[in-house]
Formats: sequence, C-alpha cells, structure tokens
Amino acid sequence: MLTCNPVGILSSGTKHSHMSNKQLVIDYDDYNSASEMSPEDQELVKEALEARHSSYSPYSHFQVGAALRLEDGTIVRGANQENNAYPSGLCAERTALFAAGVSHPGVPCDTIAVVAANNGVLLDKPATPCGSCRQVMAEYQRKSGKPLKVILVGQKRIHKFWKVDDLLPFIFDSI
Ligand SMILES: [Zn+2]
Repeated sequence: MLTCNPVGILSSGTKHSHMSNKQLVIDYDDYNSASEMSPEDQELVKEALEARHSSYSPYSHFQVGAALRLEDGTIVRGANQENNAYPSGLCAERTALFAAGVSHPGVPCDTIAVVAANNGVLLDKPATPCGSCRQVMAEYQRKSGKPLKVILVGQKRIHKFWKVDDLLPFIFDSI
C-alpha cells in the first residue's frame, strides 16, 4: 500500500522496493595520435592547433584552440579570450560555437575539436571542456538536430566522443 509522507513523496511499505541501480556507459574512441584518425578529423585537429595561436590569455598563459566543422564543411575557429575582469572572458569552445551561430545561422554543427597548451606547451592529456562549454555544446547539438561529435586533443592521447551526452549526462534541456 502506498503512503504519503509530509512532503508528498510517495513511498511504499517496503523501503527501497522500487529502487534499482543503473550504470551509464560513456562511449568514445581513444587514439594515440591524430594520424590514426580520418582525414577530416585530422584536418579539424590541425585547425584547432592553429586556432590556439589566436588565444588572448595574458593572465593564465593557458592557450586553448577550438575548431568547429559545420555540416556544409565550413570550419569556424575559436580561441579563449581573457579579460582583466576575469568572468568577462570566454572559453575557446564557446567563441567558436557562438561565432558559428552568428555567421552561419541554421547550419548544423557536426564536430568540434579542442586543444590546450600551457605557456605554449601542448598538454599531454586531452583538453577537456568546462561545464559551461558542455552545456552550450548540448544546446547547439539540440539546435542542430543531430549529434555533435567532440574531439579532445592531447599530445599523447586523443578522445573522440560521438555525442555531447557522453560528456554531459543528464543534460539540462527542460525549458
Ligand atoms: Zn569552457
């Protein structure tokens, strides 16, 4: 028999009787180097590597480059842009996504590649986007109506995710 507690949450007579444990699987490809990737992905990685030179990072000296391929083949670059008033700056991923949203409205996003360097030295591990960038990627994926693939580049490893959901489980998209 179901009973109602003071805050209105239904519970059955047997504690945890409807509880089940679940696991999420994160699906991604792992590469030793870009040479193992498709020619299109190699090109995007190269674009991201070049984009990082447009980073404006006089405070962190952490240069991030992003390259976003749209469905029509257009590549839009992004790089982190810092500001003396720290929160006013923006990450590389979002500069690319927002630039694409403005200059190529209605063209779906296909793949975004991200690289990062510390004081000019590329990171060994793949560069991973912050939470805010993952949320924006999720929105552009929804807007595109197709999975947005994400390539995270390090000197020693490269990860390729087939959809933003694998970087941001339980995406907020309720409104
Ligand atoms: Zn970010």
